[in-house]
Amino acid sequence: MLRIYISLCLIAILAGSGCDPKGQPDAATGDKLRVVTTIGMITDIVKNVGGEHVEVTGMMGPGVDPHLYKPTPKDVQLLRSAQIIFYNGLHLESKMSDILAKMSGDTVAVAVTDDIDRSLLLTPPEYEGLYDPHLWFDVKLWTKAVGKVRDTLREFDADNTVLYQSNAERYLAKLTELDAYVKAQVARVPSQQRVLVTAHDAFNYFGKAYGFQVRGLQGISTATEAGIADVQELTTFIAERRIPAIFVESSVSSRSLEAVKAAVRSKGFNVEIGGELFSDAMGADGTPEGTYIGMVRHNIDTIVQALIRK
Ligand SMILES: [Zn+2]
Repeated sequence: MLRIYISLCLIAILAGSGCDPKGQPDAATGDKLRVVTTIGMITDIVKNVGGEHVEVTGMMGPGVDPHLYKPTPKDVQLLRSAQIIFYNGLHLESKMSDILAKMSGDTVAVAVTDDIDRSLLLTPPEYEGLYDPHLWFDVKLWTKAVGKVRDTLREFDADNTVLYQSNAERYLAKLTELDAYVKAQVARVPSQQRVLVTAHDAFNYFGKAYGFQVRGLQGISTATEAGIADVQELTTFIAERRIPAIFVESSVSSRSLEAVKAAVRSKGFNVEIGGELFSDAMGADGTPEGTYIGMVRHNIDTIVQALIRK
């Protein structure tokens, strides 16, 4: 593929029409594939699988909520300059669907969830027929996104197929270990205490994969505000079940969860804020939580410590 492209470039240059700089990476000059990603969890896949042949720019940094994120004019420029855009899909980046649909020419926009068998995805009733987009909480399921990135890179840059394949194998082996780690930690929590209450409904895949009952104050998307009825219902649930801890999320305001804690106290029960979970965004670059593996480990460690405290 690359060879054909270079030949076409040569013909174009000889004909005086030049060569589109957005085409395939040019191995001869050491050019890297220009990739833009949305959420950090996907950026992490591309860094690990693409290695030195890919220059990846993640749009959504720590604390950024992908449900609400609107691309700035600078982001639009960045997206247009990319050769490949990897995004989650399943309406996670709902404010970006127009711009992603309009990508044309040499920019390829790929949803990492595209090839996943729909029977593996969750369709919670409150999501009105749409799929739950938060599949990175099931480590095993998320490996399918790794496969999609690997296959796209191989297709786009066939000369480096072997490298993408071996990088992906190495990363997938780490994810297999990670999945085992999560399961081992979960086993420390008595089964009746495996209840996870968070700011928004991001943890359904986590619940299904690792045997937790999950409750979010807000719906699957943070675009819907929690109402008084939601707070009351959740408050009753926590007090009746005597749930020791609830969890804030790094990309969602903690205000409404603090309100739940106060309401639970007025019912005569004290629920702790068990810590901060990284749900739809990872931690800061250069910290352990700034990687997918570190983020998942932080989350499970935080959950287990808070739930077995009492
Ligand atoms: Zn979310």
